[in-house]
Amino acid sequence: MPEKTLQGIPASDGIAIGPAFRYIPTELTVPARAAESADEELSRFDAAREQARVELQGLSDAIEKRAGKEEAAIFEAHREMLNDPALEGRVRELVGSGQTAEQALVNATDELAGLLAGMNDELFAARALDVKDVGRRILRVLLGLPDTALGAVTEPSVIIASDLTPSDTASLDPHLTLGFCTVHGGLTSHSAILARTLGIPAIVGLGESLLESISAQTPLALDGKEGVLIVAPANQTVEIFQGRKQQRESRMQVMKASVDKEARTANGRRVEVAANIGEVASAHTAVENGAEGIGLLRTEFLYLEDAQPPSEEKQFRIYRDIFKVMGDRPVIVRTLDIGGDKPPSYLPFPNEMNPFLGWRAIRISLDEPELFKKQIRAILRAAMGHNARIMFPMVSDLDELRRARDIVDTVKRDLALASVEFAFDVPVGIMVETPAAAVLVDVLAEASDFFSLGTNDLTQYTLAVDRGNAKVANLFQPLHPAVLRLIKQTIDAAHANGKWVGMCGELAGMTKAIPILLGFGLDEFSMNPRAIPEAKYLIGQLTDERAREIANQAMSFGTATDIEDYIKGTLALYV
Ligand code: PEP
Ligand code: MG
Repeated sequence: MPEKTLQGIPASDGIAIGPAFRYIPTELTVPARAAESADEELSRFDAAREQARVELQGLSDAIEKRAGKEEAAIFEAHREMLNDPALEGRVRELVGSGQTAEQALVNATDELAGLLAGMNDELFAARALDVKDVGRRILRVLLGLPDTALGAVTEPSVIIASDLTPSDTASLDPHLTLGFCTVHGGLTSHSAILARTLGIPAIVGLGESLLESISAQTPLALDGKEGVLIVAPANQTVEIFQGRKQQRESRMQVMKASVDKEARTANGRRVEVAANIGEVASAHTAVENGAEGIGLLRTEFLYLEDAQPPSEEKQFRIYRDIFKVMGDRPVIVRTLDIGGDKPPSYLPFPNEMNPFLGWRAIRISLDEPELFKKQIRAILRAAMGHNARIMFPMVSDLDELRRARDIVDTVKRDLALASVEFAFDVPVGIMVETPAAAVLVDVLAEASDFFSLGTNDLTQYTLAVDRGNAKVANLFQPLHPAVLRLIKQTIDAAHANGKWVGMCGELAGMTKAIPILLGFGLDEFSMNPRAIPEAKYLIGQLTDERAREIANQAMSFGTATDIEDYIKGTLALYV
């Protein structure tokens, strides 16, 4: 078989060489049998749901231990789905009309998933997958089959699948999973995020040719950084990949050995390399990887995991635990960034045509001051004795910023009047993630102590490209010259006003962007904790003068492709 190269979306860094394991989810066939009494069928259904609940709890606990609470949240959502009144009501109705528990379950989940998928919305489409996943689990239990998802992998393999559901990804045994490749999925799909957190090399979105080209045991070589999969690699290719793997591993060892050192450019300028996290477990990973602080603590998962908002006490405990792990390092807590693709059930969300342009982030906080105040109280109380900062998301003008700051001041006054202990001197800054904020930095500097560039949204809003839409994923270019100009403008304006600027969008952790950002004079880079050692190393290789040259050169190109090509050639000298 001649060697064949497939190109997909690079989802998680790393090299894997090994045989393919084709994951084909077991076909669950509904047996043709006459229904027992409705009561009997329903009690079988209830027992199966109970068993499914126990399984999901086990998965949730296991994944929380391995990857943190944020990653486990999906199984909590699945557990809640077991009680979905629409699903349960429909099953009861169908059983009442004479169907067996299995038939009723399959019909009800198909209907519900079809309804969600038909809404032509990414978020609902993802929920449709979840409904199917949950339905399959209950059906498997009803059929008396064990939970063997991916359990048949017995030797270290590269998993090949059409798509991996959250349950599939969670049941991957890290010792036997060299890497994985999927036909579908994008950079932000759940399996891609989990792969990055677990450090498993992965490529997604490889297209249908993936399954056509590969059968069980086909030898594979995968480069998760480049998104390249070689099917049936020639000996020479295997050697090249082995070489790359060894090179990367030894480089990683070298880089890891100095993760505890402060990040400095080759000529000694101090820059800060921090981590983006969502909960306590990843604060530990951040410290292990040499994070000098937390540049972005996403707090929204707290607001999405329950049917009601988190209490002040719950938030206080979680923030305090994270501050403790980070010691005296700075921690930037971003206030709730819900809405957009993350609407909680307890707020009155309108039916939005463009949710990312709608009721989201700071807009919700200003409209729901009690919810906002509760969070600010929890942060200020937990910040006692720590180095905490507060950051508002999605600000687009000074009026919004002033109103949000006024609320912080009101909370401080109320706490003081009630003699509650809290940290008074907590710097307050904003994310620069709307083009409006980027061009208004000089104005916003009046009321912002610092800035942090959110390039995920800044790219989406500048280029008018939905960040979660796989169809336009190729147009989502954070190194687009328009985005780069806004980034540079933000840094220049902030510095001219005596304020420091960080970046917590994904771009900050990409090696292809680091030299340019360094050349622009960015003060802080905040990223996925596992990206920190390489970022620190690269920063140490570059003088400010060289970085400025690279940045100037990059700015001279008119397209993202030209910029990427140029930087690729230049980077080869350093990483
Ligand atoms: C961003 O928009 O770049 C960012 C860091 O925030 P989020 O990805 O949470 O929207
Ligand atoms: Mg954002």
